[in-house]
Amino acid sequence: MSNSNLATMKVPAYFGNYTKGRTTEITEITLHHVAAVVSAQRCGEEFQRVGREGSSHYGIGNDGTIALYVDECDTAWANSNWEANCRSISIETSNSATGGDWPVSGAALNSLIRLCADIAKRNNLGKLVKGKNLCWHSMYAATTCPGNYLRSKIDYIAREANKLNGYYDGTLAGNDIPRGTDDLVLYFKGLSRNGRTGTNQWGYEVAIDKNGVALEDPHYSGNTKIPAGGKVLSGHGKAGAWIKANIK
Ligand SMILES: [Zn+2]
Repeated sequence: MSNSNLATMKVPAYFGNYTKGRTTEITEITLHHVAAVVSAQRCGEEFQRVGREGSSHYGIGNDGTIALYVDECDTAWANSNWEANCRSISIETSNSATGGDWPVSGAALNSLIRLCADIAKRNNLGKLVKGKNLCWHSMYAATTCPGNYLRSKIDYIAREANKLNGYYDGTLAGNDIPRGTDDLVLYFKGLSRNGRTGTNQWGYEVAIDKNGVALEDPHYSGNTKIPAGGKVLSGHGKAGAWIKANIK
């Protein structure tokens, strides 16, 4: 069993704050927030405190730095639930401000996505699914952890981590939004003023009429004209490959 190479520092938890070894196989990731704005180092120091009786495997600082506190082969005490601890790899994420929705910085969120993808890949968790193998503290205990902001991002974290691991299932990123890497977007109005998608040439696109019939074979193109009352489905990268394989 390995640890993530994405962790750039190790802040070992005090041996009395976790259990050596595992009793069951790892089947999920559990998300937490620190409920404070901290560095990855500072978060780990809390688990070095004798008598803390709590820990997590990883922590992400407000600047996006990832630290390892407890080896993945050991059982961290993070979830207020023994069975959930036994099957989990737990991650603490710093907030970017305290209170309210408990926001998280873009850097920390990006690190969290990369870490979830890496953990899922090395531990053969398969595609991450919210509430199934990508879980959060308040599923197991009466707590607000991981805060409203991270709670609202769990589908997004799963989708982005799955993309990093090569999974793609045709999930729409949205309607009439700029198309990012590996995004699938539906255009009803488009982003240009002349009734076109406004996308660049690096995608697969297909125009669909008002009856839902594809007007052409999907092809490598951009800035497609949107049919009256219809729409254009546009995909980049893995989403483009999905259109090519699935839309006839
Ligand atoms: Zn928690």
